[in-house]
Amino acid sequence: MKPYNTLTPAELEAERGALAAQHESYKGRGLKLNMTRGVPSLDQLDLSRGLLTCLGGDDYMAEGGLDCRNYGSLDGIPEMKRMFAGILDLEPDEIIVGGNSSLALMFDNIASNMSHGVRDGQAWRVQGQPKFLCPSPGYDRHFSICQYFMIDMIPVAMTAEGPDMDTVEKLVSSDPMIKGMWCVPVFSNPTGIVYSDETVHRIARLKPAAKDFRVYWDNAYAIHQLSGEKRRIPNLVRECAEAGNENMPLVFASFSKVTFSGAAVTCIASSKSNCSYIKQRLSMQTIGPDKLRQLMHAKFFGSADGVYAHMHKHAAILKPKFDLIEEMLSNSLGGLDIAKWTTPEGGYFVSVNAMQGCAKRIVQLCAEAGVSLTPAGATYPYGCDPRDSNIRIAPTFPPLEELRQAMEVFCLSVKLAGVEKQLALAAKA
Ligand code: PLP
Repeated sequence: MKPYNTLTPAELEAERGALAAQHESYKGRGLKLNMTRGVPSLDQLDLSRGLLTCLGGDDYMAEGGLDCRNYGSLDGIPEMKRMFAGILDLEPDEIIVGGNSSLALMFDNIASNMSHGVRDGQAWRVQGQPKFLCPSPGYDRHFSICQYFMIDMIPVAMTAEGPDMDTVEKLVSSDPMIKGMWCVPVFSNPTGIVYSDETVHRIARLKPAAKDFRVYWDNAYAIHQLSGEKRRIPNLVRECAEAGNENMPLVFASFSKVTFSGAAVTCIASSKSNCSYIKQRLSMQTIGPDKLRQLMHAKFFGSADGVYAHMHKHAAILKPKFDLIEEMLSNSLGGLDIAKWTTPEGGYFVSVNAMQGCAKRIVQLCAEAGVSLTPAGATYPYGCDPRDSNIRIAPTFPPLEELRQAMEVFCLSVKLAGVEKQLALAAKA
């Protein structure tokens, strides 16, 4: 098929009729397929079943004679701090191990800064209207946190190397109410982009107008490569320290998509000064974390190397799904000039940019044929994609055959919305 923008109105009409008939036939099939959230599939969860039995009845002691059944050890058991330190190339005393949600750590850190400020700083909320830079498309739940705290969100374009750093530098250095910036530096949600070395260097060397500016470095997919070894980028914490921005980065990591999303361990990592400040607050919140879950993870994996070996098993399950998506998008949409998409080397998503003004229509067409997608616009602050173009595909949960069916419907819907758009453009011309 030729690019849609080269077809005559009669050819477009014929194509629309054929696609609409196919769409009708899908509607009659009663499909119920879900590509909304990036959750691990059942066979991925099964990889970690050993976690449930790795503690025997007498296994409750962590290193240094620490009884995990009891209170205490606010920042985590030594073996778990060491494991996260290994994964993030940091020192154990730069790590605070958290509960099962890194999002909760981010939420709490922002709550703390809003009400109390960073160490030696004033509460953000009393200084004026706080703002965050939001590289977009980005992770919808980051944006929801900002919305919850009524933090203004400033979208920043994503390039193939990460956020558009010219814009970031200009904004951060000129506005003291810009207090934070979201970053998913490795296999970004949803684009799969890995920040270039240059982008990391430039972030570390920012000269914020706000002395209490923080980079929320959400490393959720740090070890989620689909093939090969761990993807390495420069170490933000070290780079920031060298640039005199020691307290600027707050790094988050999570085992939600390594073991069980419902019973994982997470961490926040930062300068020793930030860690001791965070620990002060933590000591008001709890007398101690769930150390038995930490111990399970420490025993199950042994070390960071054990975690990397486990991630190869995830990759073996996920790679065929990502390959299938690439194959179906290329075969079905290649050459039509109505969509572009990412071919990520890791992470949990494929990001599709359809023709401007088509994303909502595509999501609607998919829903009518029984395929749920993340709502159009969700990848932008306030749920508002100015081009109505971006759609996030989450291929991890459905089994391969279901994914194939869902993608057939998706590709058909992209084409139908594209041909409709092209007809509307032709009518206007
Ligand atoms: N950060 C990013 C970028 C994510 O994509 C997700 C989940 O999809 C999370 C954080 C959630 O992590 P957790 O389960 O540790 O709260």
